[in-house]
Amino acid sequence: MTVTLEKSVQDFISTPRQLFIGGQWVDAASGRTFATPNPATGETLAHIAEADREDVDRAVRAARAAFEEGPWSRMTASERGRIIWRIGDLIEQYGDELAQLESLDNGKPYAVARAADIPLAAELFRYMAGWATKIEGNTISLSVPYMPGSEFHAYTLREPIGVVAQIIPWNFPLLMAAWKLGPALTTGNTVILKPAEQTPLSALRLAEIMAEAGLPEGVVNVLPGYGETAGAALAAHDGVDKVAFTGSTEVGKLIVQAAAGNLKKVSLELGGKSPNVVFDDVDPALAIPGAANAIFFNHGQCCVAGSRLFVHESRFDEVVSGVADIARGIKLGSGLDPDTQMGPLVSDEQFRRVTGYLESGRAEGARTVAGGQRHGDKGYFVQPTVITDTTSDMAIVREEIFGPVVVASPFSSLDEIAAQANDTAYGLGAGIWTRDVNKAHALAKRLRAGTVWINCYNVFDAALPFGGYKQSGWGREMGHEVLEAYTEVKAVCTQLHP
Ligand code: ADP
Repeated sequence: MTVTLEKSVQDFISTPRQLFIGGQWVDAASGRTFATPNPATGETLAHIAEADREDVDRAVRAARAAFEEGPWSRMTASERGRIIWRIGDLIEQYGDELAQLESLDNGKPYAVARAADIPLAAELFRYMAGWATKIEGNTISLSVPYMPGSEFHAYTLREPIGVVAQIIPWNFPLLMAAWKLGPALTTGNTVILKPAEQTPLSALRLAEIMAEAGLPEGVVNVLPGYGETAGAALAAHDGVDKVAFTGSTEVGKLIVQAAAGNLKKVSLELGGKSPNVVFDDVDPALAIPGAANAIFFNHGQCCVAGSRLFVHESRFDEVVSGVADIARGIKLGSGLDPDTQMGPLVSDEQFRRVTGYLESGRAEGARTVAGGQRHGDKGYFVQPTVITDTTSDMAIVREEIFGPVVVASPFSSLDEIAAQANDTAYGLGAGIWTRDVNKAHALAKRLRAGTVWINCYNVFDAALPFGGYKQSGWGREMGHEVLEAYTEVKAVCTQLHP
């Protein structure tokens, strides 16, 4: 049995999809298209226009016109907020359809997309809609030492940066679009959004939804295409004032280089190798499923996946065998099958990458206690995998695998675990499981990570800032912190001559 596709979804994928530029659906200037495959079968799901440099130029011009001249920049903050709120409402209204597109394109279970991705995306827009009317500057007292006796009235304004390029990944296609678009729009910027080539469908449907919500033309342009072509052209474009990127640390570094030409502003949400620490006093009924969820949620295709599990030596065997039991029991299948708990990885490339790491772990002498193999013989399925007997220099311990693979090792003291947990180039997330508030907060303070979850993992909320220390990124998504990444501060200084 599978979820029956809505007619609107069938129609959406059976018609070749175009680029969305200046409020119009258009073919790529080159006329080229690419196929997005269904990861459960490897077969083509839909054909999509492939944006390249010329289309990027066109979209940047449309976004610039919308920023400089369009109704968007003349609208009141309240009007802007209402449109953004309506986008959230429409995402909720079309939730079944969007969850089906997401499941087909990405491979994730429909039920998960419907319960998590879609409501989170809707809530993100609503949360950000509220900020539109609350962007404020300050008044500032001046003491200019070389102008004794002078009086001033000085204040700051927070203004949009301008034309923003947003390049997003394939792991949460709609949600990543929401994380990026919400703050850019509420602060009054205009956008060119490039979804990942693996998962362009929900962003294209979102473009229709945003137009239905009343977003003026040119404010958001959506350009599906490849990273090395459309993505690179956006990151380097002189007409773009800011680039916001979510993806691998490797590509993040390329974005920084490309952005240097016109010194556009850059924000980055990159990779991770997040530690998840289980102390000896835990309730196993909480910590074992918690540790499994930390790595296996979204098939481990989370930048913040709890991919390094550290368990106090006195509970190591119990916790690891519990996580391994959960791994063995996870039902793999098509995202549209209601019994499926884990779908395929997103692409052939990702499948090869993850199975390559499983191979390298074996070659380096690590022990696979659960999983470790491909599942089935079609589609991109990999068994949920638990690995022990690792050393800190192994590639599977140091590098981001971005799949359902956890490496587990024991620790004995808080000092030791703080050092081990921080022994990584990344600093995105971390988990701590203990009943002892002293241990929990003492370790939380010592971890070099943008998010620390205590007795939970993968908890996201539009109000909670998210982002990375070290090579996990620059800046924060969500919360009020993200507004700084989408605004310039203007200081206005008036001398009073009464
Ligand atoms: P992954 O390796 O997980 O696929 P990437 O970092 O390669 O993640 O991709 C994330 C996003 O970055 C995608 O939208 C992709 O098209 C884009 N991208 C990839 N390479 C580049 C590049 N050189 N310049 C700009 N964007 C890129």
